[in-house]
Amino acid sequence: MGADIMKACLPQELLLKRRAEILHALCSSGSVEHLERVMDMLLAQGELGWEDCQNVLVPGRALYSNARQLLDLVYTKGSASCELFFNAVKQILPEALGDAFFSPRCHSTLDFREKPQRTPTDELLTQRPELVLKLQDCIDGALRVLVESGHFSSTDCDGIQLPIYTPSQQARRLLDHVRSKGELASLVVLKYVQQSLESESSLEQTNPSLTKEFVKYQKKLRSSVSAQSRFLSTYGGTSHMPLDDIYTEVQMELPNNSADNYKFMGFEEIIGPVGSVNDDADTVLASGEAGSGKSTWLQRLHLLWAQGKVLQDFLLLFPFSCRRLNSEQRDLSVQELLFQHCCWPDRGQEEIFQFILDHPHLVLFTFDGLDELKQCFVDEHRICCPSQRAPVHVLLFNLIQGSLMKGVRKVVTSRPEAVGPALKKHLHKEIHLKGFSPSGIDCFVRKHHSDPNEAAKVLESLQANTALLGLCHSPVLCWIVSQCHKELLGCGEGSLQTITDVYLMILQHFFQHHSTVKSAIGVNWLQENLGTVLHLGQLAFEGISNSSYIFSVTDMETCGVTESDICMGFLIQSKDMSLASSKCYEFLHITLQCFLAALFAILSRNTGCSAISKLFELQEMKKKRLRGTCFGACLNSTNIPNIVEEHSIMAETPNLQITATFVSGLLSQRYQKLWIQCSSSVLVEKKTKQAEKCLSKGMQQHFRSIPQPMQEEKKSMHAMPEFVWLIKCIYEMQNIRLAKDAMSKLEAEHLKLTYCNIGPVECTALAYVLQHLKNPVGIQLDNNSVGDVGVEQLLPCMHICNSLYLRNNNITDEGIRKLIDKVIHLPNFQKIALFNNRLTDACTKHFSYLLKTRQNFLSLRLGNNNITAEGAKQLAEGLKFNHSLQYLGLWGNKIGNEGAEALANALQNSESIVWLSLVGNDVGSAGACAMSNIIRNSTSLEELWLTENCITRTGVESLTEALKHNRHVKSVWLKNNDLTSAEIEEMQQTDSRLVF
Ligand code: ADP
Repeated sequence: MGADIMKACLPQELLLKRRAEILHALCSSGSVEHLERVMDMLLAQGELGWEDCQNVLVPGRALYSNARQLLDLVYTKGSASCELFFNAVKQILPEALGDAFFSPRCHSTLDFREKPQRTPTDELLTQRPELVLKLQDCIDGALRVLVESGHFSSTDCDGIQLPIYTPSQQARRLLDHVRSKGELASLVVLKYVQQSLESESSLEQTNPSLTKEFVKYQKKLRSSVSAQSRFLSTYGGTSHMPLDDIYTEVQMELPNNSADNYKFMGFEEIIGPVGSVNDDADTVLASGEAGSGKSTWLQRLHLLWAQGKVLQDFLLLFPFSCRRLNSEQRDLSVQELLFQHCCWPDRGQEEIFQFILDHPHLVLFTFDGLDELKQCFVDEHRICCPSQRAPVHVLLFNLIQGSLMKGVRKVVTSRPEAVGPALKKHLHKEIHLKGFSPSGIDCFVRKHHSDPNEAAKVLESLQANTALLGLCHSPVLCWIVSQCHKELLGCGEGSLQTITDVYLMILQHFFQHHSTVKSAIGVNWLQENLGTVLHLGQLAFEGISNSSYIFSVTDMETCGVTESDICMGFLIQSKDMSLASSKCYEFLHITLQCFLAALFAILSRNTGCSAISKLFELQEMKKKRLRGTCFGACLNSTNIPNIVEEHSIMAETPNLQITATFVSGLLSQRYQKLWIQCSSSVLVEKKTKQAEKCLSKGMQQHFRSIPQPMQEEKKSMHAMPEFVWLIKCIYEMQNIRLAKDAMSKLEAEHLKLTYCNIGPVECTALAYVLQHLKNPVGIQLDNNSVGDVGVEQLLPCMHICNSLYLRNNNITDEGIRKLIDKVIHLPNFQKIALFNNRLTDACTKHFSYLLKTRQNFLSLRLGNNNITAEGAKQLAEGLKFNHSLQYLGLWGNKIGNEGAEALANALQNSESIVWLSLVGNDVGSAGACAMSNIIRNSTSLEELWLTENCITRTGVESLTEALKHNRHVKSVWLKNNDLTSAEIEEMQQTDSRLVF
């Protein structure tokens, strides 16, 4: 239709004539967006009222019918309405109606200049189209200010942010809702939009290279990252839990920076230079066990970035899940990887990608779950060209090691097992996630339960069951325990002890949650749901055996998983940022998949004993580097591939170990009754025997590897990580006979378990097994995360412990109080090392009591804590009455002269002290003079360490004088004190035992 003809028509006539064409333009995309935008404009111009809108947009009615309704409405309103309508359509769909009949009014821009006659609510209406466009990119921020200013509740926000609404619909709902909250709320929104426009334009000024397309893309990426990270998926089955409402800080450790350990670290600090081990590398690794909160931590990073709260120096953030990357079969270029797997730029792809290449320091990539990638990290196949296509894992490895996109920061999460030396070489830094602190548990439980009384009851029952409290350091277990609070409170104190107990509880919880019928008499809950358990179990089991964590509808059908099985809540629909969006599922958490796999291994009549032994003998397989069959091959199922690559066995070990741990727990005598109705009891019995045999064999193999001691050395066993795992399996099985039997064969005098990732849960298991040792041993647990709860868990084995080494373990005075309460009565206990914990003067009264009471106590090392003169005075009180202590280490505290004097006073006549260290304690000459008294009078002292203090010539002269009367002392260390080189030279001549 030509322009001339159009001009000849009246607007109403034209509306009738072109009705079909207009309807097509508005509705053919299938999206209601165009229609709603037209209505926004008509509303803003006062042509439509709220009631009109309700009559047009009828929920549930077909889009075309709604559009027809609008056309009818403007037609009946007359010629002026029709003209405005055409104007609106022309602005929104400039190409849709061919030549312009009416010249559209200029697209207005947001204008916040004061207009005295208009109220803020009026402004919201008249600027509605522009506000919708603006707000759709910053809904989170707008809601945040509304909540902070008290106008919106979290329920208001939830209603607006329901995932069924598009961002622009959420913006419209927000505006509609604000209107009902009054003028002040409207003002808050207007101000927020104004501010964010200002900050945007300042961003554009500081980054003049940002084009409109780039800014658009950035907004799209932000809103997609925000949508993906807003809710926590473990709550997916039951309710929507906004991450903001539940997120609780987790403990972190920077392995190379012990001063900062366990201190809260913000994301800026983590990505920044603190704790860097390689400034040239771009990858920050966050490692932690399954369930320690890695994915949630990364999700938090994504959300805060999308909300504009952290890491704003990075203009783009591309989040990847290794789990999902596994299913990418094609070779891709980096550009395809970014755009197809994260966010597709509607326009200007080349330009945006060029920006990324030109400004790598403004871009952040994150990769969640490197351990779940089917391939282990290798540094072999190098590619440097961003346009070169390669398999996704090759791209990923090249990105991590920096030959591709050098300068782009990457944050990777992984379980520790998947982090080998090849990867470590390319790390900027590594942080360890250590789960919740005791106060974190408290905080999480309170956030989880909206009813404070309920939260208090849960916390009370945790305090009464320290084994369970220990488990709750792992966020996933804390979540389960909170989720199952009814079962927890109903099951009697202390009955939940093991991880298996907790997972059985959640299994029962999910089933009861969905059960509508009453159980038949004599049928237990498991039997009633056996079908579901076996279907889901098989899916989980097959997944574990071939490293699959995402399941297609076909996978599920193969295992017989039905709709009603899915409804139970163990599976959630897989989130996917990529373009491919066929429906897929994954288990709520990997540990739940392992648990269901373990249940299947036990209950399925098709899995025999060999499947059990393969699970436990995986280490063997790894050691022998066998290429061959994994345990999947032992299942009489044709679906499981029986060739498993060697590297995949390595990568999969952690999941198989977790599964084996659950198998041990489920085969405990305590649960045998539960299986009677569900499987062949003969078969279960056989499987139990098999698991016991494997555990016992595993322990013996471990003991056989203990090297013969060197002359005069103690026979020492350095535990391999598998040792702790085997111990945990025995604990899960609650099998005292097995524990006793294993320990009767251990002949070491010293057990070294340093850097073994031992937390409270492992301490519980260790104590359960080690308490059966025949002879006392030294237990060295340095550099783990034992904490106060772990110390408490270790108490049952303290009677067989003669020396306890707990350096760098996050222990406070409270842990020490409990420990000393116990060991004060145990004559074997003679040495303790607590270097680098969180001890203060408050712990010294307990040590003082220990020293007074125990006259065979030999060694106390408290270096690098926070002990001052007051603490030293307390220790001195105990030392006055002690006749046995040989080693006292206080390196790196702050006892000063006063503390040194108190100690010297207590030790001056000592006949036992051999070694005393006050290195780095602000000790001056007064303290040194006091120390001279010990040299003068003690008959036992051999080494005195006074390095790194502020001792001057006077102090050294006093020490020199005292040495004249003493032959026992071998050396007095005085490096780095307040002495000139001339003084040092001179004094060195006086006594060779002085070391400067
Ligand atoms: P990982 O990735 O280490 O296996 P996840 O991050 O998946 O662990 O955590 C498992 C579950 O534990 C989450 O789904 C959530 O319910 C809970 N969780 C983990 N970390 C936190 C946290 N920081 N705050 C609140 N809940 C958490």
